[in-house]
Amino acid sequence: MPDIAYVNGRFGPLAEAMVSIEDRGFQFGDGVYEVIRTYCGQPFAVDRHLSRFERSAQALQLSLGHTKAQWNSLIQEGLRLSRFPETKIYLQITRGQAPRDHPFPPSLAPTTVLTFRELHPLEVSVRKAGVQAITMDDIRWGRCDIKSVNLLANVLARQRAKEAGVFEAILLRGGVVTEGSVSNVLVVKNGAIQTAPEGSRILSGVTRAIVLELAGKEGLPVVETFVSRDDLLTASEVFLTGTTVEVLPVIRVDGCTIGDGVPGPVSHLLSRRWETLVG
Ligand code: PMP
Repeated sequence: MPDIAYVNGRFGPLAEAMVSIEDRGFQFGDGVYEVIRTYCGQPFAVDRHLSRFERSAQALQLSLGHTKAQWNSLIQEGLRLSRFPETKIYLQITRGQAPRDHPFPPSLAPTTVLTFRELHPLEVSVRKAGVQAITMDDIRWGRCDIKSVNLLANVLARQRAKEAGVFEAILLRGGVVTEGSVSNVLVVKNGAIQTAPEGSRILSGVTRAIVLELAGKEGLPVVETFVSRDDLLTASEVFLTGTTVEVLPVIRVDGCTIGDGVPGPVSHLLSRRWETLVG
């Protein structure tokens, strides 16, 4: 079962896939992407991911070049070829190949890349115990809602987390929590779930949206508001959401214990509801 890539119309082994060094994705980070995972072999929440992909592309005046139906058939074909138990599907569109110049030529053919790799879920024991995080300055640009391949600030933040021996870096801008380097951040405070509102300061996570819907169904109050670092550290629960992290409790932030230092009832309930939804 090989890792599979699709580049501009052709499927093949990922190890042999290539794009030009003059690709604007390589030289400028001029492109957008999505990560979709499978559950029981089927891609999850594809329509939401493809809608965000379209929004991101539009914001950069980039054409996705394919309809949702065409993306769906590319995804199905890649899954058929790779045949992993569960797959991490990566979709990327860059503006294409052109001599290096900041302004872009008007009618450049975009570079389309998909990759299909085996998904290795987080260990159940890690998920059960919860993870640790650190806080860091959010030094990203002003359009974090666009899922662009410009991920340098996220890369540096996640590297810092790794060096600190923790799972995630929680980002602070102007003293308030925006999101994690690879996840959205939710806290439970005075019985309500609080999380940064959608807008240019966060990526509107597909998992975040679904988890908030699940919370609504459970009658849990949800407040979309920015929380301070103090509120974060004194929350009764903190948890992360994301395609690969799913619903992941955080039990320590910057060395401070959150709540009782174990995953709390709200994240536990939402994890169970998540498992039911995807199972
Ligand atoms: N924020 C950032 C910065 C991310 O990279 C991700 C992961 N894609 C998320 C949030 C979570 O988004 P989703 O639930 O759509 O995976």
